[in-house]
Amino acid sequence: MPRTRLVWQLFAGFSVLLTAAIAAAFWVASVQLAGQADESLRQRLADAARSLAMLEADRDGPPDAAAFENNAQTVRTATRIDCRLIASGGTAAVDDTLAEAAARGGIASRSRYDGASGRRSLEVAVPIGTRRPPVAIVLATADAAESDRDLATWQRRLLAGCLGTAACAVAAGYVLARRVTRPIDELRAAAARLAGGDTTTAVPATEVAELADLATALSRLRTQLVERGLTIGRQGTQQEAVLGSMIEGVLAVDARQRLLGINRAAADLLDVDPDDCAGRPLIDVIRNPDLRRFALTAIDCRAPVEDDLVLHGPRDRTIRLRGTALRDASGEGGAVIVLNDVTEMKRLEHVRRDFVANVSHELKTPIASIKGFVETLLDGAMDDPADTSRFLGIVARQADRLAAIVDDLLALSRIEQSEGAGNLPVETVPVASILTAVTLDCGPRAADRSIRLEVDCPANLAATLNAALVEQAVINLVDNALKYSESGKTVWLSAAASEPPGPRELVLRVRDEGCGIEPIHLPRLFERFYRVDKARSRNLGGTGLGLSIVKHIVQAHTGAVSVDSEPGVGTTFTIRLPRG
Ligand code: ADP
Repeated sequence: MPRTRLVWQLFAGFSVLLTAAIAAAFWVASVQLAGQADESLRQRLADAARSLAMLEADRDGPPDAAAFENNAQTVRTATRIDCRLIASGGTAAVDDTLAEAAARGGIASRSRYDGASGRRSLEVAVPIGTRRPPVAIVLATADAAESDRDLATWQRRLLAGCLGTAACAVAAGYVLARRVTRPIDELRAAAARLAGGDTTTAVPATEVAELADLATALSRLRTQLVERGLTIGRQGTQQEAVLGSMIEGVLAVDARQRLLGINRAAADLLDVDPDDCAGRPLIDVIRNPDLRRFALTAIDCRAPVEDDLVLHGPRDRTIRLRGTALRDASGEGGAVIVLNDVTEMKRLEHVRRDFVANVSHELKTPIASIKGFVETLLDGAMDDPADTSRFLGIVARQADRLAAIVDDLLALSRIEQSEGAGNLPVETVPVASILTAVTLDCGPRAADRSIRLEVDCPANLAATLNAALVEQAVINLVDNALKYSESGKTVWLSAAASEPPGPRELVLRVRDEGCGIEPIHLPRLFERFYRVDKARSRNLGGTGLGLSIVKHIVQAHTGAVSVDSEPGVGTTFTIRLPRG
């Protein structure tokens, strides 16, 4: 239904009332004017007829037609009133009622309209003398055209006046209606603004008592809305901050599988833009069908659900999903899904399992060997001194091997502990002192194998580090270089400060001319018990833990270790440590 504005309703009602009142006033005034005009003409007719009647009455005897005509002529000339003498009974020309009324003694009048000429005339009959019925009557007639014209002129003026008044009144009515409705309009606009969420504009004050309460109520509503908005905003910011700072990914879906929200961590995991996906169907945003299936299960299940999912990409990731259904008061459902990247955890689990298997395997071999030779000795080989000393030599080597593995494992676990706690004890030392210690340790082995050990280190180079651990790492690298190089070759050990503008680093390098390493082995080289050639490593007394120890020592110093190698040419290990 079309709605009419209050201003127009008021204005229309007012205008109709006013027009009706002015029309009624105009009608009444017109009728009044017409009556007065007729009355004044009638009066003039009566006066003329009466004066002629009096002249006739003064004369004794019957009326003198000639004298009357003479007087009547004078009157006609002066007043344009036509007077005739009508003898009693001569009613032929006068209407009976008029004649009768006059004959009874009164003055009678009437208005006549001649249809043929379209003219209106007024007639007045006055009796002559006091006798009743009178001897004659005087009939005065006048054309009402002039009076009608005057009347029309008056009526026109009246109409103009009425119309003018009506126009002014209607205009005033409009102004009034606007004045009445303006505060309502303003309050309506303020309410509409509030409903639209605009709380910046104040609610206008009004002087109209009835509306003042409404304005106050709206004003209170606005204050509450502002406060509520601030609270919601604060809660939203807090929620966003909490969700945004969570390491776990969180996403919420509604019952129709539309994404209600997603935090930064989940968006990063799923490789989507968090600002672009709110309200969109899950199928459009998330490509992984397993995750969509999980969301459906989470929405439908009353109890929390959990599952693991592999996200394929440049690096496959295992995600642990935990879903909880949401139910609000209206019964609308949905689910919140928490995503946890457990790739690293899974990897560590795997590494731990491998480690246990590897350690067991590594320990098994020397133990089996020791057990075997001891049993052989007990079984009688002891009787042969040559065999005894040979077997005991093997047992001693295997025991050394066991001790070496256990030592390395203990060293690794110690380093890992301080790496995890981040409390590695450090001191500022001259780097040359570390390299001297390494040379003292490795020099005899190098000499045994006729390998030259060249050391290059600026005398004034100092760094803040754990000297014992760094020494251990460099010894491991030099040991490897010696182990995997042939006699007559050279091993270079160098230390230098990194070139600016990069970070202030200490760069330690161990280069050899040994057998080198195939590129395929390089990525796994620093894993525990990883060996390129198991038999060779074992023969050389390696535990497969040397490089792993180097890696952990470097990591404990928040540094990095890398390897460059070319099979048959040589290998270079580079350790970069922050100089502190
Ligand atoms: P290992 O005790 O067997 O030497 P490491 O962890 O020290 O164990 O080294 C792992 C493997 O890396 C070794 O088995 C060896 O095959 C290879 N390797 C280490 N350093 C060198 C090197 N300088 N030249 C060639 N191969 C090397």
